[in-house]
Amino acid sequence: MISTNWSIVGHEWAVQLLQSSLDTGRLPHALLIAGDSQVGKRTLALALASAINCGQPDRPCGRCRSCSMIAHGTHPDVRLVEAESGERSREGALKIEQIRDVQRFASLAPMESPFKVIILREFERATLPAANALLKTLEEPPPQVRLVLTSARPDSLLPTIVSRCQTIQLRPLPLAQIREALVERWLASQQQADLLARLSQGRIGWAIQRLTDGEVWEDRTRRLVEARRLPGQTAVDRLAYAEALSRKASDLQPTLAAWTSWWRDVLLVQHGCAAHVTNIDLVTEIDMAARQYSAAEVRRFLARLEQAPEQINRNVNSRLLLETLLLHLPASAGQSIHS
Ligand SMILES: [Zn+2]
Repeated sequence: MISTNWSIVGHEWAVQLLQSSLDTGRLPHALLIAGDSQVGKRTLALALASAINCGQPDRPCGRCRSCSMIAHGTHPDVRLVEAESGERSREGALKIEQIRDVQRFASLAPMESPFKVIILREFERATLPAANALLKTLEEPPPQVRLVLTSARPDSLLPTIVSRCQTIQLRPLPLAQIREALVERWLASQQQADLLARLSQGRIGWAIQRLTDGEVWEDRTRRLVEARRLPGQTAVDRLAYAEALSRKASDLQPTLAAWTSWWRDVLLVQHGCAAHVTNIDLVTEIDMAARQYSAAEVRRFLARLEQAPEQINRNVNSRLLLETLLLHLPASAGQSIHS
């Protein structure tokens, strides 16, 4: 079975392969993750780094000290190396000094975790001296070091480099999978998800970047802030809010979707399934809410909330529906909405 903890959209076979290599202790010293730009190479490399160093049985757990340091780019044994933008060339190159630095890093014992993981991004940008320098490390890799190269143009790498790595070739994802992920995990509207999936040519990273760069991200943040704030409001304020929202038809479904994702996450944490939360950038807030409300109340509210989109599609009066919904929000201990 594939662990869902990897939090990777698509590329299931690659996750399965890496997971079973880890489980059987056969992960090679060096991997080359190849595939189109923004198809998910870097995300997979970082998830692998988490899986390698996570101490939990369901690795990568996403919650332990090691996983969280990797997510924040602060793990002392995991290094992501990228081309430095040059003065003349816009693209920049991966230089020999950077490889020498990596070699010094690789020669020291890990500080925190069993392995040092070095991710060398876009290795096609390595200069020839840099590539030749790395070759030495690939020929005699220190035992506690795992190297992960990524490249959109593996055919331009030195054959001697490629032959010393196990290659994982990522393919573009099916459009339906991208569309679904954008709606479910990044809370895009169906329309946006359709458009971005079509434009992405199977590159999930590209679609997410377009989505999260702009307004959509701000809207999502605003909706999640409201989801957190509303249970603390008085009945009068909630009714006013319901009235205002019911007049913004295009805002209605995405708002309900955002709230649903929020309360589902709260319930997941209450049931000890924190690794599966959707809004992973808000785990602290979700943890707080999980302690604040009773799981039974959250479950009852969520059941109501999940019926709402259908009811709105059937032309139920959206103002009445929102009013009823908001008056049934879970209450934190000792709180009354009439206060
Ligand atoms: Zn972990």
